Formats: sequence, C-alpha cells, structure tokens
Amino acid sequence: MSDCLFCKIVSGEVPADKVHEDDRVIAFRDINPQAPTHVLVIPRDHIMSADAVTAEQMSIWSHLLEVAQQIARAEEIAAWGYRMVTNVGRDGGQTVDHLHLHLLGGRALAWPPG
Ligand code: 5GP
Ligand code: ZN
Repeated sequence: MSDCLFCKIVSGEVPADKVHEDDRVIAFRDINPQAPTHVLVIPRDHIMSADAVTAEQMSIWSHLLEVAQQIARAEEIAAWGYRMVTNVGRDGGQTVDHLHLHLLGGRALAWPPG
C-alpha cells in the first residue's frame, strides 16, 4: 500500500535498522524501543493486522514466529526469556496498520500489560 509506513520500509523508501530479510518477511529495530531488544518482524505483503490474515495467508505466522525465534537467539535473549506480541486495532493499541510481531527482551517485562 503506497501510504503505509511499513510498506515503505519494505520497499526501502523509508530507512530502517534491519536485522533480517528474506523473500517473505523483514525484521528491523523499533524506532522507539521499549526494551533493550525491540524488533518488529513483518510480512513483505501488506496485511492490515493479525485479524485480517486470511486462511490462505496463515502460513505467514509460522514464518514470523520462526524469524523472531532466530533473532531472539542471535540477540542472546532466548535463555532469559522474551515476549512476542501483536497488537490489533484501536483497543489492542495498534498504531501502524501493517501486521507486525513485536519481539521484546533484554529486561524483565511486566504482566499484565496496561
Ligand atoms: P503498534 O503500536 O502498531 O503495535 O507498533 C508500531 C510500532 O512501530 C511502535 O512500537 C513504533 O515505535 C514503531 N514505529 C513507528 N514508526 C516507526 C518507524 O518509522 N521506524 C521504525 N523502525 N519503527 C517505527
Ligand atoms: Zn503496509
């Protein structure tokens, strides 16, 4: 989508600190990190949110999770634990309408979320 910030990061129009790229997903550091490691893993295809993933697109989830797992190991946060989260819509706190998995770690994270 031409006016989507994360599509612009996928295309390279907007720069990002990328930590992973393959044919289906990219991952980059959040511009406003909430933990020592805060990476966003996103599909190259524009999908609005977790709620908009169709049955045909469901396999993207396993790939997002696999990439997040690999990054957690590379960032050496896996042994201590980390969080994967995706916000959906207004009440879920989603601010960018392009599916993204947050990978957060490097400190003890509070629960429940606010
Ligand atoms: P959401 O609130 O939709 O779950 O998460 C959107 C995330 O995108 C936020 O954590 C925000 O800091 C991050 N973000 C917003 N704009 C940019 C940007 O231009 N570059 C990067 N790297 N992250 C961004
Ligand atoms: Zn997009």
